[in-house]
Amino acid sequence: MFAVKIDRELCKSCELCIEFCPRDLLKLDAELNKRGVHPARFEGPQERCTGCGNCATICPDAAIEIEEITQGE
Ligand code: SF4
Ligand code: SF4
Repeated sequence: MFAVKIDRELCKSCELCIEFCPRDLLKLDAELNKRGVHPARFEGPQERCTGCGNCATICPDAAIEIEEITQGE
């Protein structure tokens, strides 16, 4: 499984990650960040994420990291 970590304060709400996730797992958060925009958040379900890395690659602000998590952690 993969954990998608989004730095909500780095996010500028361009929505590219949302558009490029082939599984539609990302959404905008209802709360504003310190930049005054609605940041992207990983909605999941987590087991649907393939770890393809599209979201992290497309993010112009490098706000997303993908981490593989092994069973039992
Ligand atoms: S790693 Fe791929 S499947 Fe997972 S949230 Fe990002 S774009 Fe979607
Ligand atoms: S691509 Fe990056 S900056 Fe754009 S909405 Fe996603 S996390 Fe935010």
